[in-house]
Amino acid sequence: MKVYKFGGTSVGSAERIKTLPKLIADDQPKIVVLSAMSGTTNFLVEIATLLYQNKSEEAATAIKNLEDKYAKVVRELFSKPEFAKEALRKLKENFDTLKSFQPTNFTAKEERVILAQGELMSTMLENLYLNETGVQSILLPALSFMRKDLNDEPDLYFIREVLKREIERHPTCKLFITQGYICRSYQGDIDNLKRGGSDYSASLIGAAINAEEVQIWTDIDGFHNNDPRIVEKTHSISKLSFDEASELAYFGAKILHPTCVIPVQEANIPLYIKNTMDPKAYGTRISSEADGVGIIKAVAAKDNITAVKIKSGRMLLAYGFIRKIFEVFEDYRTSIDMITTSEVAVSLTIDDTGNLQKIITELTNFGTVEVDKDMTIISVVGNRISENKGAAANIFGALSEIPIRMISFGGSRHNISLLIHSDYKKATLEALNRKLF
Ligand code: ADP
Ligand code: ASP
Ligand code: MG
Repeated sequence: MKVYKFGGTSVGSAERIKTLPKLIADDQPKIVVLSAMSGTTNFLVEIATLLYQNKSEEAATAIKNLEDKYAKVVRELFSKPEFAKEALRKLKENFDTLKSFQPTNFTAKEERVILAQGELMSTMLENLYLNETGVQSILLPALSFMRKDLNDEPDLYFIREVLKREIERHPTCKLFITQGYICRSYQGDIDNLKRGGSDYSASLIGAAINAEEVQIWTDIDGFHNNDPRIVEKTHSISKLSFDEASELAYFGAKILHPTCVIPVQEANIPLYIKNTMDPKAYGTRISSEADGVGIIKAVAAKDNITAVKIKSGRMLLAYGFIRKIFEVFEDYRTSIDMITTSEVAVSLTIDDTGNLQKIITELTNFGTVEVDKDMTIISVVGNRISENKGAAANIFGALSEIPIRMISFGGSRHNISLLIHSDYKKATLEALNRKLF
């Protein structure tokens, strides 16, 4: 079995929903994972924000606008009245859910129910459209099998067992449609895999069913060597190793969810990136094959990074100091991305600032604390890049005009990372593009 994932633009209009079946037309068994129609999740975030702000009238207007948009999609999508009627009946359930929330007692739990509606609607529409055109497909409810464990991580054992049972209930079915992004928490509440999480859903499903391959269909012809939204003249990379793709995704390449490579890497299942707008283009193959030792493959940037520096004379020749500092971050479940040390200071970066104030208060017990916000990690990635003698010289040669706050070399064999202020991000990515590719 293969797993296909289509992102927001790939289901972004009635036209796209009608085109999608052509991309999966062969007779091979498959599970198709869909995102919400493009723009919908952002719209749902806005609705939730209005409810948090106690603006129930504005929220009601926003919901009405979204409802009108979906009614138009239904008019354009279906030609048989009974299918259009069924789609509207189902959408009414989603919109009744959205309308049921009030600002009083609106919490993250209610917000997550709102955010789940996008994928529930897109999969319902695509499945109904397939059925209207005579294609037999089954809608698998992700909320029945996609679940997180006590540590808020996907519970692969549960996913595998329940998904297997769900699939076995339909022995003759060759085409399953399911929702990306949404899942249940350990407690059974509606939850999600964070923004961009449909990629992660697809790779988890791939690992759970031991798929032949996982294909991520998006709006670009593969993984590019630099961020095409910022830099001109980027190109698609035909082959990446799991390690390379994993570093790039984690360090900000928006094309893949930060942790989506891990499940397929562990199960050794190749991951393809394909372009919905240009299905014949080769795209990118991500697999265990690692080639081009030392060759720089790509650059990525991760924004909204906060750097924390702890300075203390007590660190001099002391042991156990760094452990104590790390324990503070551990206590607040805040993960650290980059670290540099000197004899009297430690600098590190985090991207989750939810507990920053409490962390700072505790860290002041160890020394003076300085915090720099609005930082960006720039990562230069390539298979065993640390063995390329000229790589560092080339990178720093390109960045002679850029103030660099931190450098990380040798932590991973495949990655050289720099921390800069976000104001210099564009200039840094452009300079690296000119020099490295
Ligand atoms: P989808 O909705 O299909 O999940 P995304 O918007 O999440 O699509 O991801 C695709 C987008 O990622 C591309 O349109 C591109 O602008 C952006 N992107 C950022 N970095 C890269 C990169 N290194 N390679 C390709 N695309 C990238
Ligand atoms: N719809 C979700 C989002 O916009 C998940 C995804 O598209 O991958 O973040
Ligand atoms: Mg995405």
